[in-house]
Amino acid sequence: MIWGWIGACLVNFLADILPSERKITTPKCNRCGEQLSWKFYFLLTSCKHCGTKPSLRHIIVLILVPIFTGLLAQFPLESLGNFGAILWLVYFSVVIVIDLEHRLILHPVSITGAGLGFIFGTVNHGFLNTILGGGAGFGLMLILYYLGELFVKVLSKSRGEEIEEIALGFGDVNLAGVIGLLLGWPGIIAGIILAILIGGVVSGGYLVLQVLRKKYQAYQALPYGPFLVLSVVVLLYISANI
Ligand SMILES: [Zn+2]
Repeated sequence: MIWGWIGACLVNFLADILPSERKITTPKCNRCGEQLSWKFYFLLTSCKHCGTKPSLRHIIVLILVPIFTGLLAQFPLESLGNFGAILWLVYFSVVIVIDLEHRLILHPVSITGAGLGFIFGTVNHGFLNTILGGGAGFGLMLILYYLGELFVKVLSKSRGEEIEEIALGFGDVNLAGVIGLLLGWPGIIAGIILAILIGGVVSGGYLVLQVLRKKYQAYQALPYGPFLVLSVVVLLYISANI
């Protein structure tokens, strides 16, 4: 449980500094710019310079990450090991929080994930299947990325107006590569298919909700990162039990 708490603090810290700094530095208050003390993250105290309180996200992360750590202890993922599972929990939490808040999957985060994915993949599936899995994840998502771009182009032509939204971010392509390394070949194929299915069901539900609330706007882009991550978790549990 203590690891969950430390992991949660790490997630909040990284999700705060990485989008603006792109590297690990001392945390700064997002209102007054003064340095934050470690208590801000560990005990959720306010900024001592301007009194800014930790956000709702800080609180949610500090509750959810320890809960998931507890669940991982209860239902261990043997392919990752106890410590590895917490490491990936922290990693994917950072990806999801930044993706939801900024619609971004940052390059330093993707590169770190590629390193982690390569290590864990090679241990579990061997070198060749890891590289193949990474290439397949990246390549398949790249195809989807270009199809999405084409779709937006055709759409803006037919409507006679420019559409700024992109269907799929390039960060999703990188993330699919990371997941491909972790799941290896041929697990990544199931991973991508599952992510598309989950994404389809969730975005379908979301659209119905928007229509019911009369707020419907056509072709809203959804952050795909969380669906990719969810499908990895499902697959890791399935593959551990067959
Ligand atoms: Zn401050």
